[in-house]
Amino acid sequence: MYDVLILGAGASGLMCVSELATCKDLKVGMIDANLHIGAKIKISGGGKCNITNTKVSEDNYLGDEKFVSSVLSRFTKDELLEFLQVNSLKPVIRKNRYYFCEKSSDEIISIFKRLTKNVSYFLGEDILHVEKKDDLFFIKTSKKTYSTRNLVVATGGVSYKTLGASDIGLKIASGFGIEVTDFTPALVGLTLQKDQFWMKELSGISAEVEIEVDGKRLSEEMLFAHRGISGPVVLSASLYWKKGNMYINFLPAQNINNLIKNSKKNISSVLNLPKRLSKGLLEALHVEDKPCNRLSKDELQNLQAVHKYAFSPAGNFGFTKAEVSRGGVRTDELDTDSMMSKKVKRLYFIGEVVDVTGELGGYNFQWAFSSGVVCSRHIKNKIF
Ligand SMILES: Cc1cc2nc3c(=O)[nH]c(=O)nc-3n(C[C@H](O)[C@H](O)[C@H](O)COP(=O)(O)OP(=O)(O)OC[C@H]3O[C@@H](n4cnc5c(N)ncnc54)[C@H](O)[C@@H]3O)c2cc1C
Repeated sequence: MYDVLILGAGASGLMCVSELATCKDLKVGMIDANLHIGAKIKISGGGKCNITNTKVSEDNYLGDEKFVSSVLSRFTKDELLEFLQVNSLKPVIRKNRYYFCEKSSDEIISIFKRLTKNVSYFLGEDILHVEKKDDLFFIKTSKKTYSTRNLVVATGGVSYKTLGASDIGLKIASGFGIEVTDFTPALVGLTLQKDQFWMKELSGISAEVEIEVDGKRLSEEMLFAHRGISGPVVLSASLYWKKGNMYINFLPAQNINNLIKNSKKNISSVLNLPKRLSKGLLEALHVEDKPCNRLSKDELQNLQAVHKYAFSPAGNFGFTKAEVSRGGVRTDELDTDSMMSKKVKRLYFIGEVVDVTGELGGYNFQWAFSSGVVCSRHIKNKIF
């Protein structure tokens, strides 16, 4: 029998168990389907793990703002950076905002391995079912049944099934009558409707754009892909998009009217965009590529859409490509001080399995780590 069992050896579970492992008297165990811990950390950020961001606030998340802000304030990005520093990991900052491991994600995984030496790992076991009898939780896996006094569900979302992902977290919650929101793919590329098929011709091209979606303005690189659009700004926009239009500003740092004013050059060469993109965009806007001073009134009018191009995605690239799953255990079911279920005492949910999803840029690991620490601190304080 365990004092605490953690289901899922991903980012949130590992941070939680690292904190718990500091209490030598606690009998702590961790179960995961994978044979190695931190499978998603390993491949994240192109193998270098974008750990967190220089600016982190509830505005970077889809979820209940108060809940998110409360959890993030209990283990901030500065505390996370301090934790990394104490454990000799010096992250590098990219693009002035993203914290990455310098060489490889293994730098952070090895911290967790070191801190959890006295934790019992049960790897290569599928979690099948959980029930509670009297005061104990019983966890049935593909190999055996475990019992524990405190149960932490850190089983993440359903994207990237090849890395052990499953919806067991939602099944466990639902089994206890805890309300959940179904998972949908997020941080994912978007597919095109017929009238935007012109973008298909641009596969491989990228541009710095601004996207406005559901009241949010996001700026970063957009990438044209074979199936649609992708790249950092599109992935973040996918988080907030449900249906209808989003708006792309292809020239966020310039004003189209200033660019064409008094110019005799062809319009495609004054737009500061890759040539193929300029040409495709002009065609889509029904603007002939001719000298700027010869544009008709209608063309001048149509050209304004370079700042607000209405884009209505057909859908997205799906769970196999999505970096995260939107949805999860509803936050009004959880206590913000502990991540414990309000309905079931000593049952906790942390990380991506909770209905809080961050934008691209290290926000999802920050959430996983913050919620993991909030949970472990509560368990430690309660037991000792
Ligand atoms: C390609 C990719 C790149 C990413 N890059 C970044 C990045 O750079 N920065 C960032 O902030 N976020 C990134 N993310 C998102 C981030 O990885 C997740 O949000 C984060 O890992 C969530 O942590 P978690 O602990 O909640 O879940 P996970 O890390 O997914 O861990 C859940 C664990 O539970 C286990 N599990 C699930 N079901 C079962 C079951 N039935 N039986 C046994 N075990 C089970 C899984 O095997 C897994 O190990 C990326 C995601 C992907 C897919």
